[in-house]
Order: sequence, then structure tokens, then C-alpha cells
Amino acid sequence: MDRHWTSLFSDLDVKVQADAPLGPLTWFGVGGCADALVTPRSPEALAELVRRCRHNQVRVRVLGSGANLLVDDAGVEGVVISLADPSFTSLEVNTEGGIELMKVGAGHDLMKLVTECARRGLAGIEGMTGIPAQVGGALAMNAGGRYGEIGDAVHAVAIVRPDGALRVYAKSELHFAYRHATLPEGVIAWATFSMREENPVEVRARVREYMAYKQSVQPMSNSAAGCMFKNPVDPGTSQRVSAGKLIDDAGLKGHRVGKAFISDRHANFFTCEPGARTDDLRELVRVAQSAVRERTGLGLETEVVFWSRHGDGA
Ligand SMILES: Cc1cc2nc3c(=O)[nH]c(=O)nc-3n(C[C@H](O)[C@H](O)[C@H](O)COP(=O)(O)OP(=O)(O)OC[C@H]3O[C@@H](n4cnc5c(N)ncnc54)[C@H](O)[C@@H]3O)c2cc1C
Repeated sequence: MDRHWTSLFSDLDVKVQADAPLGPLTWFGVGGCADALVTPRSPEALAELVRRCRHNQVRVRVLGSGANLLVDDAGVEGVVISLADPSFTSLEVNTEGGIELMKVGAGHDLMKLVTECARRGLAGIEGMTGIPAQVGGALAMNAGGRYGEIGDAVHAVAIVRPDGALRVYAKSELHFAYRHATLPEGVIAWATFSMREENPVEVRARVREYMAYKQSVQPMSNSAAGCMFKNPVDPGTSQRVSAGKLIDDAGLKGHRVGKAFISDRHANFFTCEPGARTDDLRELVRVAQSAVRERTGLGLETEVVFWSRHGDGA
């Protein structure tokens, strides 16, 4: 493979790993390598990296915690950016006009952030309890569930655009919807959230309650992502219906392809055993989609993001 472009980073403050296995960096634990996994060590290095990639037509993808990601067995071309460096995991809290504004680096771990906010008595993002993510990945997906979505608490999002410029977007310029965020193209670098001061005991109690609920309904396995599919809208009622129930009703709980299988606890959770291939999971997706379509006429759209050399998407 022609990788003359890796020399593009030699003078930048970045860590570069060529032919980097991505499987171990995702919750599914499967999939091939990135041509290059690049970890910038400063916001300036990130901006210049993104600018040079665009200038040299090198494809850029961003890796968060890999909790919603399935990488093709053949891996992906170009550069995968990791924001694991401490320069992207900062946390600052300021009070402006009585509103607590919290500024968080996109590489910050969301679950640690929830715990830290509860400890400080900051309410607003505790609905994210138990959702594995980096803050950037949670924003890109508008992660959430029964207790709210991350977009609810957003105040502004800073994005490194493909030309390397950092632009800050107020919430009014962005659109958050069910498991979807319409954000300008680029790498989310940090975000601010509107928080409320509350008694830490009460915030912590909510975190415990939400975690107990999540553990009671979802298998928190580390060889699965979250829900494989978004809940589809039933055109008859205009309401979302549970994709897990549709798959369950199609008799597919526990269904297996190779070393991948549908959880017998929650039919929207697809999981795999050691030695599984991404193709096993892909096939399982197709089986579930066609069984549900045949039974109900409803189409299932994947919530999990698929990365492939042949184009992203299931
Ligand atoms: C056990 C388990 C339970 C889960 N429960 C839930 C749940 O209750 N609700 C829910 O919504 N999700 C849930 N998920 C799915 C997952 O936690 C979310 O989708 C989360 O937002 C993924 O974040 P991530 O950092 O892991 O992103 P990744 O999986 O690494 O990436 C997802 C997408 O975000 C993009 N991205 C990541 N970082 C950035 C960035 N800085 N800038 C631009 N784009 C970026 C990636 O390029 C990719 O397109 C669960 C997953 C697991 C494994």
C-alpha cells in the first residue's frame, strides 16, 4: 500500500502507529487495521494534521471509545485520529451569570465525567449514566436513552474543520435528534455544557438509580456495542417501536452466525466470542433486517457505525 503520506506527520507533535489494529480499541473487539492511527498531543497538532490530510486527500476518521463502532475485517484506509492524549481530556467549570458552564475535552471519558459531576454536585448530564463513550463520540451520536440525551445539556461544540480552523458552534446552530447529531464536518475538540448546582447526594442518588435500571435491561458485555439498530418509526402510529422487540418477535434471540450472536437477554444487542469476524456480525445484521422486514414491513437502520475501505455504513 502506498503510504508516502505518512511522512506528512513527521514534523508534527503526534504519535503515529502504522497498520494499527482497531479491533482491540472497539467494544466488539473485531475488525482489521487502520493504515495509520494518529494521536495528536496538542490542539495545534490536531488542527495541522486535519488540514494536511485534507490538502493531501487522505481520508480521516475519528475514534472515540469504540463503543458504537464495527470495523471491517479488511480495516480502513487513511488516518484514524485518537483523542486519547491528556490535551483532549481536560475539564473546567466556570460560573457565568449564575449558569454553571462546564468545558470538557472531546477525549474525556463520559462515564468518568458523570461520576465527577455527581461528586461536585453538578446536575445536567447524569442521564448519560452507564453509556460508554468519549464526550466527542457521545456528541457525534447524540447518545442517550430513557433519562435524556447528551444534546439536551449542550451549550456549544468546538469542531476542527477540514481546513484546520477551530470553530465554536452555539447549540442553536446544531441539531440533535434521536441517536443523531447534525454537526459541521470535522473533529469535535471540546464542548461546553449547561449544568445546574444541586445537592451532590441527590445527583449521586439519581446516578445510582439510572445505573441500576441500565444493568437490569442491558447486557453490559464488553464484546458488544450498544443497540445494533435504531428504533424504527411505525408509519401507522408515527411512534417509534422497539427494534429489540421486533427482533425478539421474529424469533431471533440467541440466533448465531459464526461466532457472533444476538443476545438472549436483549435482542437489539449483538455480541461476539473470541475469533469472531466482522462479517459474522454483518450477516447477523442482514438476517435481522430481512426477518423484521418480512414480518412487519419495517426497515431497521443500524445505530452502530460501520467503517470499511469500501465506504462506511452497513
Ligand atoms: C454496553 C454498552 C451500552 C450502551 N448503551 C448506550 C445507551 O444507553 N445509549 C446510547 O445512545 N448509546 C449506548 N451505547 C453506544 C455508545 O456508547 C454510544 O453510541 C456512544 O456515543 C459511542 O461513543 P464512542 O466515544 O465510543 O464513539 P465511537 O464508537 O468510537 O464512534 C462513534 C462515532 O462517533 C464518531 N466520533 C467519535 N469521536 C468523535 C470526535 N471527537 N469528533 C467527531 N466524531 C467523533 C466516530 O467517528 C463514529 O462515527 C452503548 C454501548 C455499549 C458498548
